[in-house]
Amino acid sequence: MGLDLQWFTASIFAVFGLLIGSFLNVVVYRLPKMLEQQWANECAELSGKAQEGHDPFNLMVPRSRCPHCGHQIRWYENVPVLSYIALQGRCSACKARISARYPMVEVVTSALFFYCGWRWGVTTQGLVWCAFAATLLALALIDWDTTLLPDDLTLPLLWLGLLAAAMKWTPVDLNSAFWGAVGGYLSLWSVYWAFKLATGKEGMGFGDFKLFAALGVWFGWQTLIPIILLASVIGAIVGIAMKFTSGLREGGYVPFGPFLAGAGFAALFLGTNSLQRAVGL
Ligand SMILES: [Zn+2]
Repeated sequence: MGLDLQWFTASIFAVFGLLIGSFLNVVVYRLPKMLEQQWANECAELSGKAQEGHDPFNLMVPRSRCPHCGHQIRWYENVPVLSYIALQGRCSACKARISARYPMVEVVTSALFFYCGWRWGVTTQGLVWCAFAATLLALALIDWDTTLLPDDLTLPLLWLGLLAAAMKWTPVDLNSAFWGAVGGYLSLWSVYWAFKLATGKEGMGFGDFKLFAALGVWFGWQTLIPIILLASVIGAIVGIAMKFTSGLREGGYVPFGPFLAGAGFAALFLGTNSLQRAVGL
């Protein structure tokens, strides 16, 4: 592929990434609320209470509103990054600050897609790695915000990885991918029970097992140990930093998913061999 064409392709991916990043902001904000509502409905059903009618709330409806004043955000106020700059980070109606995280998520997604477009071009590989990166980013943010890793994201990530291995869209053979899933899930599951039996506390959640299993699928069982080591090191550093800056939330709980995701991104950028060498394996 000529360099000009490579730039052009990667730039198209980057623009596409801005749009997907904008959608990820919606997913990160709404999916946990949708799940909460679903659990509330199920509890109401089980306890035999009459279901109250709810206004539809999903990824598409209602339209986004300013959380401060309820101003409905118009399409031209919702252009990734550009609207944020044009509005100087404030709601057009009430001038309340809009979190800088929204444009940051758009820029990061765009950069991830640029990378995939640059490396793989317009191929199935390029597209599945974009899907991988977008899902991983959404999981990291949701876990950071809510300490949840929804099955609606971890399981499709796992299945897409298996499909990609079976179709040879990823360099991992199906056998390594399969044992990556088994090893990823069972290893953290064992740690969870050992920790629970020893201390009576729950150190992590089932979502962590599924996310680790999914990473095992995408990079093969051989990369499980480098990934968990890297995630633990990043997690420990961030945890200690948060302790010193008293940024810890109530109960001192730091979700593990964002660090697993971080190690997943490292595996994407560095490749599995360099990652194994980096942690001395
Ligand atoms: Zn407002």
